[in-house]
Amino acid sequence: MNNIPYKIYLDEAELPKQWYNLRADMKNKPAPLLNPATLQPMTAQELSGVFCEELVKQELDETTPYIDIPQEIQDYYKTFRPSPLMRAYNLEKALDTPAKIYYKFEGNNTSGSHKLNSAIAQAYYAKQQGLKGVTTETGAGQWGTALSMACAYLGLDCKVYMVKVSYEQKPFRREVMRTYGASVVPSPSMDTAVGRKILQEHPGTGGSLGCAISEAVEVATSIPGYRYVLGSVLNQVLLHQSVIGLEAKTALDKYGIKADIVIGCAGGGSNLGGLIAPFVGEKLRGEADYRILAVEPASCPSFTRGKFAYDFCDTGMICPLAKMYTLGSGFIPAPNHAGGLRFHGMSTTLSQLYHDGLMEATAVEQTAVFAAAEQFARIEGILPAPESSHAIKATIDEALRCKETGEEKTILFGLTGTGYFDMYAYEAFHDGQMTDYIPTDEDLAPGFATLPKV
Ligand SMILES: *Cc1c(COP(=O)(O)O)cnc(C)c1O
Repeated sequence: MNNIPYKIYLDEAELPKQWYNLRADMKNKPAPLLNPATLQPMTAQELSGVFCEELVKQELDETTPYIDIPQEIQDYYKTFRPSPLMRAYNLEKALDTPAKIYYKFEGNNTSGSHKLNSAIAQAYYAKQQGLKGVTTETGAGQWGTALSMACAYLGLDCKVYMVKVSYEQKPFRREVMRTYGASVVPSPSMDTAVGRKILQEHPGTGGSLGCAISEAVEVATSIPGYRYVLGSVLNQVLLHQSVIGLEAKTALDKYGIKADIVIGCAGGGSNLGGLIAPFVGEKLRGEADYRILAVEPASCPSFTRGKFAYDFCDTGMICPLAKMYTLGSGFIPAPNHAGGLRFHGMSTTLSQLYHDGLMEATAVEQTAVFAAAEQFARIEGILPAPESSHAIKATIDEALRCKETGEEKTILFGLTGTGYFDMYAYEAFHDGQMTDYIPTDEDLAPGFATLPKV
């Protein structure tokens, strides 16, 4: 049947009007966030000191399956959604595989990634609460960009703590954020107590996401009228990202297509959690079965080599404890790691699903990821983000397996964004300067040693 178009678009009327909250269908709920001081579950009141009230409600809601998307957010979504569901005919042909490959492409907005789906929601609720602004961290810069766009649109102040190595390597990202009115500070900075402490202990450090989170939280909780927002990991972010999966499911259903395998890259887990949500929902309710595959970097292997334990989400150890697959908040990725997805932990929801055997995970090495990225760019045209390319690599591997076995599997993967700001990494790959690094057990030990005893 060849009447399936290269691009499957939805009409505006078919766009989701509600987010889907996967936790409502989970028998084993993700473990609650704990207050690090008392080791008791964080209450809504405690969380409201850091996060916006409505977002706290969403964070703690594990029973409501569908949550209405406010009209203003739906209207903003319409400026860049639906994102296309692409049939990778050209890639299938090049691989000579009987597999049918689809990808949901989230890179068609200025932030260049899926992050805008949650940024606009979080900024909207901050505005509703009458706040002046929000603070956040950004690593590679996609989240900071998305949040700057959302804040500019709604007239909120936006303070971004950007991991110092990225700040220096990606000046253009920084300028995009400033174009949208955000202030961007390299982290660790001298602005915060936690930044000064980290700089004293590790002079010359290039920073880390965990450290930038600590700084952003400290600032949000010390200036009146500000709250902290986070671009991944949290349940609320997975909830907002469910638009990816809901749209993909509607588009596939329209053509009577049933996916066999759903593949996504996993950093903190938000795009993957959003993409797989309606599919895992069917799986949990016993309506259909899918293979779900998370793909992570071999140099930051939270799922495949991490421990399922309570841990801090930040280096400064001021954030609540989350039970997740983690390498320890003290884990620092190798300096040659170029492909993003470098957070030490993982969404608690995805961690629980993985623990319960409802999804699988695999780790891939970065030179193979960039080789897959380049192959994909040449065949499909889109220049993929290094993060997204982890999913491309795993998809190509699956498709080649289908070629060997003759199985006509239908694969859906998440192409989370574009890689225009990652040209130093591409350059290293092209010049043969990129190396792989798989940490030894000894290399991982210091990170595990920072796990709190809970
Ligand atoms: C942030 C980002 C990711 C990883 O984050 P998740 O929360 O795991 O989805 C993946 N791809 C792109 C393009 C990103 O910007």
